[in-house]
Amino acid sequence: MKIKFCGADKNVTGSRHLIEINNKKILLDCGLFQGGFSRLEKHKMNNKFLFDPKKIDVVILSHAHIDHAGNLPTLVKQGFKGKIYCTKPTIELLGVMLEDSAKIQAQDVDYLKKRFEAVIEPLYSKVDVVHTLKKMVGVDYGQCFEVEEGCKATFYDAGHVLGSAQTLLEIKEGNKSYKLVYTGDLGRKNMPILNDPYQILEADFLITESTYAEHIHDTFDYVFDEMKWAINDVVARGGKIIVPGFSLERTQELVYVLHKLYLDKKIPAVPIFVDSPMSTKISKVFMNNVDYYDDQSFRDFLGRARSPFAFKNLKYITSVEESKKLNYYKGSCIIISASGMCNAGRIIHHLKHNIENPKNLILIIGYMAEGTLGRRIVEQKRKVKIFGQYYNLKADVLAMNEFSAHADKLDLLANVQNMKKLKKVFIVHGEKFATSYLRDCIKNVLKFKGEVIVPELGEKIMIGS
Ligand SMILES: [Zn+2]
Repeated sequence: MKIKFCGADKNVTGSRHLIEINNKKILLDCGLFQGGFSRLEKHKMNNKFLFDPKKIDVVILSHAHIDHAGNLPTLVKQGFKGKIYCTKPTIELLGVMLEDSAKIQAQDVDYLKKRFEAVIEPLYSKVDVVHTLKKMVGVDYGQCFEVEEGCKATFYDAGHVLGSAQTLLEIKEGNKSYKLVYTGDLGRKNMPILNDPYQILEADFLITESTYAEHIHDTFDYVFDEMKWAINDVVARGGKIIVPGFSLERTQELVYVLHKLYLDKKIPAVPIFVDSPMSTKISKVFMNNVDYYDDQSFRDFLGRARSPFAFKNLKYITSVEESKKLNYYKGSCIIISASGMCNAGRIIHHLKHNIENPKNLILIIGYMAEGTLGRRIVEQKRKVKIFGQYYNLKADVLAMNEFSAHADKLDLLANVQNMKKLKKVFIVHGEKFATSYLRDCIKNVLKFKGEVIVPELGEKIMIGS
């Protein structure tokens, strides 16, 4: 068996790992490279694969995030003909996510054409997205399926976003057999809606993510108290709360928390607006997939015949006119809007209208990459530029890091430690420091006797022979 590392190597985006078994090529994830590169560089890296798309036999997809699935339509456009296996909610989510991504590809190319007079085409169109979705085959957690002759796969809940999966491959080559696990993105315990990540107990080889390998997260329970305090404080002074929301998972988790606090009478009946067409569509996918929620969701909501994502004070806004009306809304309210990093979308308008009022609060619930408006707000710069004009940042800013959807150092190490018979661990999906830090921890803290490898982009490694 051979593995070629074709993305998310010493980097957190563009996940693509190519496994070759019995002359068959199986691609694990096909994500877009995002952030950290210029738009032109990103376009090149996404348009050119480190393999021939026509020669890929099958894709196994871990979850619906764009850095794991967002380049599938390019793969299909360039000649991939096989099946794409993933969970059923992942297919539904990608119907929304990839359509949006196609729109962004077109906008990016318009920008590049104007800025550099570049002669380039969008990576893919909505038609390519339709072709891609038709290739997807939904498989439930725990259901073993044959990928190719000599290779069976089973998905286990990764607890990262709705429908996210870890993949266990059971491989037979000649008279040899081995197990390989790919974590995809691994989640955390005790998060709202999601089940805890499933612990796979035995494998020979592990490809693990390492996004937050050098962090230890606070437990999610703090969110309820912090949020209660913040909302009561802002409402008492007549302010508004503006939340840059990530459309998949984070927005739904926040709505869950707000609904629960409201039912428990810990916050007043303050109006809540989810002002994002994409978040609204994704929330509908969540409502269609209650079977994937954890037991706590049943105790809090479903068992009482309630949806976590619908209640009296909550309104989903899709039209531009309604969104604009929020600029003149009198009184306290909570506005959740995308994009999460404030580099595009309606959130920029809400920030422009609310950032200079000291009664308001900007609530940050996700990672803000360097160079984004969100990052300048988290760093509490006194002046921030919005649509080419400077605004004074006078609103309060509160960053809640508990919403992180990734396993931390302790979770990542526990996953390795609890997996028996491991011979080799490959570390992907982390910045350079995080990957080498996790390698050192596996070696020195866990006293792991096998090999731990941080692959380079494009590196090929033979295993199991
Ligand atoms: Zn993810």
